[in-house]
Amino acid sequence: MPIRTLVWGENVHEQKNKIVADNYPEGMHNQIARLLASDGNISTTTATLQDPEHGCSEAALAQTDVLIWWGHAAHGQVKDEVVERIAKRVWEGMGLIVLHSGHFSKIFKRLMGAPCGLHWREAGERERLWVINPGHPIAKGLPAYFELEMEEMYGEPFSVPEPLETVFVSWFQGGEVFRSGLTYRRGAGNIFYFRPGHETYPTYHDDTVGQVLRNAVNWAFNKDRYPQMLTAPNTPFDEAPEQIEERGPKLHHGREEGFR
Ligand code: ZN
Repeated sequence: MPIRTLVWGENVHEQKNKIVADNYPEGMHNQIARLLASDGNISTTTATLQDPEHGCSEAALAQTDVLIWWGHAAHGQVKDEVVERIAKRVWEGMGLIVLHSGHFSKIFKRLMGAPCGLHWREAGERERLWVINPGHPIAKGLPAYFELEMEEMYGEPFSVPEPLETVFVSWFQGGEVFRSGLTYRRGAGNIFYFRPGHETYPTYHDDTVGQVLRNAVNWAFNKDRYPQMLTAPNTPFDEAPEQIEERGPKLHHGREEGFR
C-alpha cells in the first residue's frame, strides 16, 4: 500500500497576491502534491486552511501516514483543537514534514516547545544547500550541493531544539548560513523541517526540491501506530514481569488511574 500523504497548504497568498497566483495557479499544495506524484510509493491528497476543520478531521488524519505542512500568513487562524489533534497523531507515529515559513506554525512550535525564531531577508538571493549527511535517506540521490537561484534568506540562530540529525546546511549569497534540513522524533513520529519554499519564487517547481520531498516522505513513514505513547497506565505489582512484593509507603491505591 502506498504512503498516504496529505499535503496541507494555507492557500492565502495564492488568492491575494498575483505573483504567487502566477507561480502556483493551482495552489502551492497542488504543486507540492504533483512533485510527490512521480514516486509510485506515495499517494497524495490535499487540504487547505479554508476546508472544514482545515481538512484535518479525525477521519482524514486516520487515513494519513505523512502530513506535509506549508503555512505563512495565517498561522493564527489554525484552530488549537486541530493542532492538538495533529500533535497526537504525530506522537502515535504519523510523519510530519514542515516547510519554510511553517517554522512559525502552531504545530511546529507545539512539537518543538521552542520559539523557532530566525532572521530573514526577501532579496532574491541564491541559496546553496550543502548535503552534510550524505548517507541519510533524505539525501538519497542528491549531489554534494544544489542551488536555488532565487530564495528568501533565513539566518541563524534558528531557535529550535538541537535536532536528531542535520541533513542540509544552506549558504546564502548575502553570507548568512542556516541549518535547512533537520530531523526530530516526537513520541513515535518522525519530523523533518525543510527550509526552502518562499511563495514568490518557483521553489516547488525545482526537481531537486521534489527529490528531497519524496525522500522525506519515505523516510518519515511509519508503518505502525503506537497509541500507547499517549497513555500512562498503572501496572500493578502483581503484573510486573518479575515476581515482587509490595513494600514501602504508598500514595496511590492499587490499580488506580493516577492524576491527569
Ligand atoms: Zn518566505
